[in-house]
Amino acid sequence: FDMFVLAFVERLFRTTYKKDDFVLGKKLGEGAFGVVYRVSLANKPSSKNEGDLVVKKATEYGAVEIWMNERVRRACANCCADFLYGFLESSSKKGGEYWLVWRYEGQATLADLMLSREFPYNVETMIVGEVQDLPKGIGRENRIIQTIMRQFLFALDGLHSTGIVHRDIKPQNVIFSEGSRTFKIIDLGAAADLRVGINYIPKEFLLDPRYAAPEQYIMSTQTPSAPSAPVATALSPVLWQLNLPDRFDIYSTGLIFLQMAFPGLRTDSGLIQFNRQLKRCDYDLNAWRKSVEPRASSDLRRGFELLDLDGGIGWELLTSMVRYKARQRISAKGALAHPYFDKEGLLALSFMQ
Ligand code: ADP
Ligand code: MG
Repeated sequence: FDMFVLAFVERLFRTTYKKDDFVLGKKLGEGAFGVVYRVSLANKPSSKNEGDLVVKKATEYGAVEIWMNERVRRACANCCADFLYGFLESSSKKGGEYWLVWRYEGQATLADLMLSREFPYNVETMIVGEVQDLPKGIGRENRIIQTIMRQFLFALDGLHSTGIVHRDIKPQNVIFSEGSRTFKIIDLGAAADLRVGINYIPKEFLLDPRYAAPEQYIMSTQTPSAPSAPVATALSPVLWQLNLPDRFDIYSTGLIFLQMAFPGLRTDSGLIQFNRQLKRCDYDLNAWRKSVEPRASSDLRRGFELLDLDGGIGWELLTSMVRYKARQRISAKGALAHPYFDKEGLLALSFMQ
């Protein structure tokens, strides 16, 4: 049965939108390839639907982002922000913009939440599976971080199982959905679809260097050179096998885990300094630990203490994500089955959601 026919029919019966349907509200984000606004619908009383949608006006890369969102919508709807519709808006002066429409998921990304002094307690009251039976301290913080990681990995595994590699995993692209009270992934603007062979190799500047795995350069030099606009290319499955591109996302995920454990690494400067130190240690986290631990700040020591709980199971998971060689990194599915999450029925909770 043809999935493309199914997809077409589904799209035919779905609510469609056009430019004039929207009243633009607050600007939520602006990157090199698009601007994101909170919007409401023009033809409905604004009190009823005020700002309940989000629109991204994108450049030529928007075509790929629409494709990815359509795939996700059918294959793993709950992994990512709820995508409603995408279209080419050709009447604009700039001569063609892609408009993408999502449901407004909520006001906070993981980056916003991590910037708070209260983190991770500020998340505790929001998420499903909150932990209240522990006194404040690293034990409780670890449990909250576990829940965030599990929810995030659940979404990432959904994407990877669909054959999509995100390639821009970072706290800014993880949103807290107030509706489902879970974390979801956003921003498929740099994603690649392995199964169907829709791919464009983003220019290196597209990848966020703060979260990119070391093989970013290998990826972009071994694969066919980047087209200026997204095109459908049949990429050799062997090439994908060799590169294990999903493990690119796992490296970035490890850095998010690290930032949650170490408050000092949540700032740009902290993360950049860490990246420099890790590179000097040939991307060996244990070597990095040995080099910093003897003269570690109390902040750093507290992070190690948190990851060392339960026999160091957190540190074990972290080191299985942040590794130089992609093929030595754990997969999203493997991480979900890691004993780090195997405590006090936390796994059972993820199945209840
Ligand atoms: P960019 O390409 O600018 O990074 P994103 O897709 O990451 O675009 O969106 C930019 C910002 O807009 C996000 O960091 C988030 O704050 C907000 N945003 C995006 N999608 C949604 C959504 N569905 N619900 C609520 N906020 C969103
Ligand atoms: Mg983004």
